Amino acid sequence: MSSPTTKQGWLELKNTLVYQDKAWIDGKWHSAYGDETYEVTNPATGETIVTMAACQQQDVDLAVSAAKRTFESGTWSMSSPSHRKEVLKKLAALIRENQDELALLESLNMGKPVADALNLDIPGSAACIEWYAEAIDKIYGDVAPTDANNVATITREPVGVVGAVVPWNFPLDIAVWKLAPALVTGNSVVLKPAEESPHTVLKLAELAKEAGLPDGVLNIITGIGSVAGQALGLHHDVDSLVFTGSTATGKRFLKYSAESNMKQVWPETGGKSPNLIFADCDLDKAVEGAVNGIFFNQGEVCSANSRILVDNKIRAKFVEAFVEAAEKLVIGDPLDPETQVGAIIDQAQVERILAAIETAKQQGAKLVLGGNADLSKRFLHPTIFDQVTPSMDVAKEEIFGPVASIIGFDSEEEAIAIANNSIYGLAASVWSNDISRVYRVSKRLRAGTVSVNTVDALDFTTPFGGYKQSGFGRDLSLYALDKFTQLKTTWIKLS
Ligand code: NAD
Repeated sequence: MSSPTTKQGWLELKNTLVYQDKAWIDGKWHSAYGDETYEVTNPATGETIVTMAACQQQDVDLAVSAAKRTFESGTWSMSSPSHRKEVLKKLAALIRENQDELALLESLNMGKPVADALNLDIPGSAACIEWYAEAIDKIYGDVAPTDANNVATITREPVGVVGAVVPWNFPLDIAVWKLAPALVTGNSVVLKPAEESPHTVLKLAELAKEAGLPDGVLNIITGIGSVAGQALGLHHDVDSLVFTGSTATGKRFLKYSAESNMKQVWPETGGKSPNLIFADCDLDKAVEGAVNGIFFNQGEVCSANSRILVDNKIRAKFVEAFVEAAEKLVIGDPLDPETQVGAIIDQAQVERILAAIETAKQQGAKLVLGGNADLSKRFLHPTIFDQVTPSMDVAKEEIFGPVASIIGFDSEEEAIAIANNSIYGLAASVWSNDISRVYRVSKRLRAGTVSVNTVDALDFTTPFGGYKQSGFGRDLSLYALDKFTQLKTTWIKLS
């Protein structure tokens, strides 16, 4: 069956949706302890989608004990890699079969254009699961170079119970970046989605059961971060905690670990990524890249290229072309397939972004586009500031919205210094046709990913994560297996 191609088609599908309102523990739907609930709303309309289970400490205990029991039973953790591969490949196929419903739920939960969810988020999640599934029965252990009287093997084992806490900006994708390597290596998982966007991971859990994942291996606790997320972070039976979200919450998880069982904590956190545009680049492509780099997903992207550093020799030309291109973006109803910039996650976030815009104006940045929300305060116009200096708040703080800051530079050295002058180090982009410059500059940028003549280059084949306060450890690629496995040395003395 083909996907809807019109707003009307998506609305018709919306009318058939049944929204889940419970958590998923031990293979069953579960109401929260004390019947506690909270409201999930549609950012584009403000309507309540559903009154959702708000898990409490007691629910987290249940989910963790189900995960622990299943892990220790060995039904999944000790099953063969080829069995896990088949189950996860089936899950990827089921995601593809259910792509329309998943794309719609993603858009309704977080306001992103449904076309992006359908063309990027959902197929990306299926492909990521499939990639790890295909990889797992091709990974070998090592034999250490001991003397002839001994044999020592080095093997990877699952860590046990993995707690995963994820944000709302790519609800399914980022959850899958954690779940795919965690499950394929034999762990049991308790995942807490962001309160705003629980629906696609709940659907995923149901599909995982259909694919053959044993009950208790994947548990989803819906609810509030400071309650359910904190209980998971402090739990003594969680062996590893993988997190994506803000730097402030990432630091909390490090504390939770210190206050409980010293569980491993792997934080992927915020960013203020620089986009360096040199005079010797292809300007049209750089402009197109800069637009995607900051306005895709309403700018609600951890690696968004929010600081655009432009050689002063071409700055005026760049600003003119950048404004012209950003003005053409189609903002509005996420269910309209033409929409390129959807709704902001909630009105509190709109207010925060508007406050950051006000501060930028007061500090002397020159507003050259946007700066305002629509009347409903659900949609923000792409906003561009020129004449930003590195000391202004707009150049330093993560805004997490469609706001670009243009900072001029006069030399390569100055560009590198401005780019690295940040507490964050998640990603960076470099635009230049001089291969020596590209390599020279890339080597000196303190960022986990440097995209050259493109923005936000990302694939499940390459590691993704940050330097500095953007966190540590890497998602994606085989390097992510370090988060979900422990090395076991088995030393055999030969007689
Ligand atoms: P957030 O830190 O507020 O929330 C992330 C998750 O943590 C949510 O599930 C939330 O419920 C939970 N949480 C919140 N407070 C908690 C607490 N006190 N204890 C335990 N759990 C708690 O972040 P957000 O607003 O959902 O997402 C936006 C942030 O995420 C931005 O800073 C963005 O840069 C970052 N992000 C980073 C990456 C990356 O890969 N580095 C990717 C996407 C988003």
